[in-house]
Amino acid sequence: MSVYDYIIVGSGIAGLYTALLAREHGSVLVLTKGSLDECNTRYAQGGIAAAIGEDDSPDLHMDDTLKAGGDLCDPEAVRVLTEEAPDRIADLIKLGVAFDTLNGEINLAREGAHSVPRILHAGGDATGERIETTLGVRLRESRISFLENSLLTNILVDEGGARGVEYLEVGSRTRHQIGCTYLILATGGAGQLFRYTTNPSVATGDGVAMAYLAGAEIMDMEFFQFHPTALKLPDAPPFLISEAVRGEGGILKNSLGHAFMKDYSPQADLAPRDVVARATVREMRKASTDHVLLDITHLPSQRVTTRFPQIYRFCLSQGLDITTTPIPVAPAAHYMMGGIRTNSWGETNIKGLFACGEAACTGVHGANRLASNSLLETLVFGKRVVERTMDGSKGVAHYPKDDSLYLRVPDRAALTGQNPPPTLERLQSLMWESVGMERNEQGLMLALGTLAAWQGQLSDHRDRPSAELRNLAITGRLMAEAALLRRESRGAHFRLDYPETLMEWRRNIVITRGE
Ligand SMILES: Cc1cc2nc3c(=O)[nH]c(=O)nc-3n(C[C@H](O)[C@H](O)[C@H](O)COP(=O)(O)OP(=O)(O)OC[C@H]3O[C@@H](n4cnc5c(N)ncnc54)[C@H](O)[C@@H]3O)c2cc1C
Repeated sequence: MSVYDYIIVGSGIAGLYTALLAREHGSVLVLTKGSLDECNTRYAQGGIAAAIGEDDSPDLHMDDTLKAGGDLCDPEAVRVLTEEAPDRIADLIKLGVAFDTLNGEINLAREGAHSVPRILHAGGDATGERIETTLGVRLRESRISFLENSLLTNILVDEGGARGVEYLEVGSRTRHQIGCTYLILATGGAGQLFRYTTNPSVATGDGVAMAYLAGAEIMDMEFFQFHPTALKLPDAPPFLISEAVRGEGGILKNSLGHAFMKDYSPQADLAPRDVVARATVREMRKASTDHVLLDITHLPSQRVTTRFPQIYRFCLSQGLDITTTPIPVAPAAHYMMGGIRTNSWGETNIKGLFACGEAACTGVHGANRLASNSLLETLVFGKRVVERTMDGSKGVAHYPKDDSLYLRVPDRAALTGQNPPPTLERLQSLMWESVGMERNEQGLMLALGTLAAWQGQLSDHRDRPSAELRNLAITGRLMAEAALLRRESRGAHFRLDYPETLMEWRRNIVITRGE
């Protein structure tokens, strides 16, 4: 078995940036299950947050992040995130990412729940694509080894910790093993759990599922962010209408043309995402429609087309001119706050196993992510992962005794009743209806029983679709377990049967694999 110093799984911003840093310290292999640029990163529109403006400071950025996180962020991790942000932006600029400027200065935009303009963007609303393309070019230039269409199927662990990976070559369906000293999971999110999502097809929670199977701690899985404004046109593919559209003055209106957000929050259209998403669902329910309208027609059309070229062009290709017609939108699953538990150096409880990016749960987002903090998180903690490996120790996280709730979930459950065989469509519908934006005990129990039974039937992962379905069943189940346990509402987790936020629940839920 060949052995690398670093194996990095995933080629979004977290995987590519970490690989570019790690190559200074040893041999690196990047594994990715599709092509190099298939990932959530390239769809990011709004931008990346950092306190670089004159009226801004890391303290202010920290305050906004803590407020959005529903009293559940790890303050130390947020401090690291906000203090190191400007340096990581400088790194991206050095690597060649050209952020938009105005009169020679970086042009900062404002987004919901940020108290000042602090969002850097590139190519207007093409920030993620610009970052992904630039880092991809740097990776190819650096001659780092990478394998496309190579899907991680198993983390090899022994008493000494993580020692390598098993992966499936997707085309030939053959399996291989490779060893490493440091294994870094940068496998991204899990939007494909839900029927409606802004995430591309690679977002199937693979890293979380495999880390759980390997014995890693998984935290905050009940918190999944739903974005209030995904485009809702018949037959249009999933497409996000960035929060930045409301930041520029876009207004949400119901079917009667009423600007409804001021009825729900003093921050109106710039309220946190979960507030806007639930308000939107209520307005849709009241009017029995499947969308509300996001109106930006009052802005000068040239401002719309230059600030949002990608959104403008995409909507036009679907027959909608957003400079003259309001945009039909509805909520969709967007961002996984929970994930593989790490400390602020990206270390997990398994020696040699690290995680960064959306797959990781560093504690910076708490119960709800502040917009544009996620691209930033990948850089700040990706850098710290590599720094940690440089001290020569094989990292492992030791957590001080805390009041988190620890739950052991067996990976097989007794079959309950008759369930239809698992398919991606069935799983996505079940999750949308029972583990979605509004939850209750009955729905969560139904989802849990079904997912546990499906998990038992999905142990074989001979090809990419079957491996992904297994990973979705596991990730969905961990989400339903945590959502059932948390008998309150907080941030993105909303229980119809427990609508209050309770002091006694100001704690994290940490799941590990049990017998
Ligand atoms: C439409 C959209 C808009 C967004 N806008 C913003 C924004 O404006 N600002 C912001 O901060 N955030 C935004 N986000 C969130 C942000 O883009 C992501 O959180 C971030 O890009 C995650 O980066 P990552 O590298 O962790 O994961 P990803 O970019 O998703 O990369 C994950 C990689 O892992 C690979 N992978 C997964 N499983 C396996 C496996 N089993 N084997 C091998 N490879 C595997 C995937 O193929 C992929 O290459 C947005 C997300 C979406 C979907």
